[in-house]
Amino acid sequence: MLHAFAWTCVMPCEVKSRFLLLYGSQKGQAQSIAEEIADQASAHGLVADLFCLSNKEKYNLEKETAPVVFVVSTTGDGEPPDTALSFVKTIKEKTLPRNHFARLNYAVLGLGDTNYANFCNCGKTIDGRLHELGAKRFYSTGHADDGVGLEIVVDPWIEGVWEALKKTVAEMATQGQQDTDSGRSMLNTDPRAANQESTGAPGLNLSLGSLKLKDSPAQASELPKSTSEVETRRTEPAPLEASLTQSLLPLSESALNVPALPPPFLRVSLEDAPAQELSGPVLQEHHQDVSISKAVQLTRDDAVKTAIMLELDISGKDIPYHPGDSFDVLCPNKSSEVQRILQRLSLEQQSHHHVQLELRKDTKKKAAQLPGHVPEGCTLLYLLSWCLEIRSVPKKAFLRALVECTEAAPEKRRLQELCSKQGSGDYNRFIRDTSVCLLDLLLAFPSCNPPLSLLVEHLPKLQPRCYSAASSSQKHPGKLHFVFNIVEFPACPERPVARRGLCTGWLSDLVSPVLQPCGTAQGPLAISSGATLPKVHVGLRTGSSFRLPSDPALPVVMVGPGTGVAPFIGFLQQREKEREAKQDGCFGETWLFFGCRHKDREFLFREELERFVGNGTLTYLKVSFSRDVSEGTHPEPQPSPRYVQHNLLLHAKEVANILLKEKGYFYVCGDAKNMAKDVNDTLVDIIAAETDVDKLGAMKMMATLREEKRYLQDIWG
Ligand code: FAD
Repeated sequence: MLHAFAWTCVMPCEVKSRFLLLYGSQKGQAQSIAEEIADQASAHGLVADLFCLSNKEKYNLEKETAPVVFVVSTTGDGEPPDTALSFVKTIKEKTLPRNHFARLNYAVLGLGDTNYANFCNCGKTIDGRLHELGAKRFYSTGHADDGVGLEIVVDPWIEGVWEALKKTVAEMATQGQQDTDSGRSMLNTDPRAANQESTGAPGLNLSLGSLKLKDSPAQASELPKSTSEVETRRTEPAPLEASLTQSLLPLSESALNVPALPPPFLRVSLEDAPAQELSGPVLQEHHQDVSISKAVQLTRDDAVKTAIMLELDISGKDIPYHPGDSFDVLCPNKSSEVQRILQRLSLEQQSHHHVQLELRKDTKKKAAQLPGHVPEGCTLLYLLSWCLEIRSVPKKAFLRALVECTEAAPEKRRLQELCSKQGSGDYNRFIRDTSVCLLDLLLAFPSCNPPLSLLVEHLPKLQPRCYSAASSSQKHPGKLHFVFNIVEFPACPERPVARRGLCTGWLSDLVSPVLQPCGTAQGPLAISSGATLPKVHVGLRTGSSFRLPSDPALPVVMVGPGTGVAPFIGFLQQREKEREAKQDGCFGETWLFFGCRHKDREFLFREELERFVGNGTLTYLKVSFSRDVSEGTHPEPQPSPRYVQHNLLLHAKEVANILLKEKGYFYVCGDAKNMAKDVNDTLVDIIAAETDVDKLGAMKMMATLREEKRYLQDIWG
């Protein structure tokens, strides 16, 4: 590890001052942003020591004398990413003294998603705790929101961090010099101190002049030096409407600030050598292949969204799940899309060749490493099918790199616009919001011919998709159920062909030959014992706190519209079994708030839920149908509730009692974008109304409920 004042010589007379750059990443976003910062550093006369927070042996914050930048994401219900868990735990240690990090200067860029509770919680926790322990925040903390586009905050934050870093480096160098001087003066009296200080600052003079610290990223008006100015003028008449491939005035004629070209770091070669071809995902220890023993369509054919329930045969497998757990499904990219990419890159003939990856010796990329998700010697077909998320929305850095592989000047210009600062609106509108992917770009920009290495450098790892268990193994030994909606992306000008979600589209194709129609959920297995069962690769996610209370006497409120009902089916199956086993046991009330568009088309698990009500497992089933017109025969005078939150309001008193007086539990599952927020807001209103506190007070009470793990969410979208 480099220590403070270890200056990296680039040219004989040029020194670059270092800073420490630490990231905590779950899906790779924080890592790639940290890498981008590291790559840009040199253009600002700085050099970053870049490490994952989990590599604790590589850094030492207690002894660090250079500024430290953290880039951290947040996962789940406000949890730190796995790679940051241990770090966060360490700094939260209650025994640490108040001045523990008194010498540390830091800045935090937090990534999060406002669709989820505890936005940017990991970034906020690290920021707050370091501050509490005496560290000095040298640049305002960034909170980037994936819900609206991380780059809205990330880009200006990075632009502004350089000046702040340079100023801090200069201040710390002066401080270091003073420390060294005082160390020297101590030399006269204490030889041990002299030994400690002898590795200190070499006394380099930075001559950085008077640098101003920007208080907020928004004030960053100067562009980083790494940003290149691009100015080309069009000669063709301006189009009437902007599109993925065409811009309007003023963008079409403005000078552009585009990001620095990401340094290439991989060399990819294809070898025509025979070897055993891999045929499934790269399995990790906890992944197993299991058969699908049943597939039932839960919605009628005229429903807007199709929901399917799958039963997995996990008998003999080590998948000890509990209701409330979720698990990963590994799926490949769509083969027709893989083929089209191969065609477009003129690589169809080499699809069975073996991919060899090596790091470019001359790369300028900081901490360049071979991607761990590409197994050695896999074929090109395998690489595109199982390793890379080819559907991912290309980041601006990728667009910037694609400019260099595009021949036609108008296409080049448009790609420059889309990754430029000035074209941010167009990027959001034509790429991000429409979920455009690499293949869409290759089709829209025919003269763009990227090398394979660029794809491997820029496309993220293909991620497994997560699903909530919709069964209890007590009720269905050896089986695991889950429910999903087929995600549909309707056609639009940027994507002329409609498509389905990667995993849900794949699963639905996989089971279509054996799919039982709606209304036959109780029927026999659709798959005859002689037939080959379709298989999927799954892995149980561990550490869930989305569980029924250990004391069954406590009441529970469950809110799960649509497929969000899944874990509650598991909960209720478990509770039903517990009640059967302990007939004189004490069981608390159970409430389920379910909702869908139409009662007759999408009322998932209707018979099973009614059975639970019939046998007392479910005390109250409260349903709402958002698109059914009121029949006018409703016995109550008020209009029927449209959404789950309206139904919650109708039972405000009972819900508040359960949570605040009876120590009950409140669970929400399903859509994160709208429903979970609306339910959260409604709960705040209910608590405020029922306890006579103001909104802020109610929010604090909700925070306490979360801390006590009595308000639990399992949300996605
Ligand atoms: P992709 O190709 O990955 O496309 C997904 C994109 O489509 C997203 O970026 C989003 O912007 C958009 N989108 C539009 N509608 C939806 C939608 N309804 N859901 C997700 N993305 C949408 N899904 C279930 O159906 N049932 C479950 O029980 C379930 N449990 C989950 C539990 C957890 C803890 C998490 C994190 C997610 C869960 N999901 C569940 C969501 C699931 O993991 C997938 O995201 C979803 O099935 C879409 O995957 P896909 O590959 O088909 O779509």
